[in-house]
Amino acid sequence: MEPHYDLLVIGGGSGGMATARRAASYGAKVALVERSRLGGTCVNVGCVPKKVMWSAAHTADALHRAADYGFRVGPATLDWAELKRRRDAYIRRLNGIYERNIDKSGITLLTGEARLADARTVEVNGERYTASHILLATGGRPSRPDIPGQELGIDSDGFFELAQQPRRVAVVGAGYIAVELAGVLHHLGTQTDLVVRREAALRSFDPLVRDSLLEAMDQDGITLQTHSVPKALERADDGTLTLALEDGRHIGGYDQVIWAIGRDLCTDGLGLEAAGVARNADGSIPVNAYQETNVQGVYAVGDIIGHHPLTPVAIAAGRRLADRLFGGQADRHLDYRYVPTVVFTHPPIGTVGLTEPEARAEYGDDEVEVFTTRFVAMDYALGEDKRRSAMKLVTVGDNRRVVGAHLFGVGSDEMLQGFAVAIRMGATKQDLDDTVAIHPTAAEELVTLP
Ligand code: FAD
Ligand code: NDP
Repeated sequence: MEPHYDLLVIGGGSGGMATARRAASYGAKVALVERSRLGGTCVNVGCVPKKVMWSAAHTADALHRAADYGFRVGPATLDWAELKRRRDAYIRRLNGIYERNIDKSGITLLTGEARLADARTVEVNGERYTASHILLATGGRPSRPDIPGQELGIDSDGFFELAQQPRRVAVVGAGYIAVELAGVLHHLGTQTDLVVRREAALRSFDPLVRDSLLEAMDQDGITLQTHSVPKALERADDGTLTLALEDGRHIGGYDQVIWAIGRDLCTDGLGLEAAGVARNADGSIPVNAYQETNVQGVYAVGDIIGHHPLTPVAIAAGRRLADRLFGGQADRHLDYRYVPTVVFTHPPIGTVGLTEPEARAEYGDDEVEVFTTRFVAMDYALGEDKRRSAMKLVTVGDNRRVVGAHLFGVGSDEMLQGFAVAIRMGATKQDLDDTVAIHPTAAEELVTLP
């Protein structure tokens, strides 16, 4: 007889770990299968090492601006190898904490590649395990373009392996990862081009924050190559890399090209067909509001559901699923509206709810009112560099209910969480106006908008 579990989780990343631990806390008998390092994308090649690199870049920026406050600092040099060594050690510590948490929770850890044999059975390393409930939480991996020479480039996983700081880089892509890596590299001293196939990056973001970021990148000296669709990647005689573009142009002289064009979902080879689990053309797994797939007893959370690919979303959906299955909370499920998110650019973007174009499309122009401000944050008061922050509130209806907040500027990353609570609770513009400001901060601008 094969071992039987109440819950068997495939994938030890953000969603899988959170679900397994919450289920085990209710006394469920849980097994978790992971083929690689515990913690998944976020801990090993995502949020965590990225935030370390962002903090390093932020520090470089502060050193750069120290003279504005009268400090005499010599030219600072970065020991990239030392930064990587410390970052890798931090992540290894986190891997260890995750392993101990699994152990402490009484979860059985199975190491290997899992695949469904049927809707109740999972195979790992040739062994079979059955479960009353199976959770798929297998996440994604970086996509690569299908063009000649793509293998000469690296992706975000490769970025975290770089042993030396590249001198000149092209980051190809227009989403979160592209703008974040371009910002980090530039602020750490690498000459950086951001290569986008259309007119801008972050096209789905509110125009105010998107345009403010592009303006800041331009001021900083990041070169934005627009309307640039790579046709091939070639190595020149001098060893540098050149992107051949579809319009016949060539851009080159790079020692690294980083593909940041999205992520493929890890749902191939998972045995979905054997279990009868449906899959969309893009590889995502359709689920209902309760994270249920089309097959009873098989669930999916995290990136593989095809929307909101963010760590806290995967965690929240997984914990709620465990609350429902094992914690007696029959209707518990995640409300995917008003998910706040931060893009760790320099300075960062924080956004929650509808953009202005989305609100106008959903409610009609007559119902929508927006409140906008642009200002120089006090951080830049003494220097020549007058960076402008930007903020927008999107409201609907006569009572001006806030349905979107879009922030760009120093502190936006830490500012957004509290506003997201208020907006989720139905805050109106008047509620914000009635809140006493905190002075002098950038956040006060949001409660003093004209
Ligand atoms: P994952 O974390 O990807 O975990 C899936 C796990 O399943 C992996 O460990 C994998 O090895 C395992 N697996 C897959 N197939 C199998 C199999 N067949 N058998 C056994 N194991 C298997 N999100 C944020 O919220 N904030 C950020 O700042 C942020 N920054 C990011 C930066 C980068 C560079 C990247 C790439 C992502 C970032 N994200 C960020 C997104 C975030 O990392 C993901 O949304 C999150 O990790 C998704 O969690 P998940 O559980 O769905 O999958
Ligand atoms: P995204 O989906 O955010 O962006 C990828 C973009 O690249 C596309 O929107 C597209 O933009 C462009 N693109 C797609 N294909 C090509 C191509 N062949 N050539 C050139 N450009 C192309 O993906 P990411 O990989 O950046 O990030 C994945 C997800 O991970 C994010 O959506 C986010 O949810 C999460 N994440 C979160 C972070 C955070 O919270 N701070 C940080 C990093 C990731 P266009 O159509 O405009 O060309």
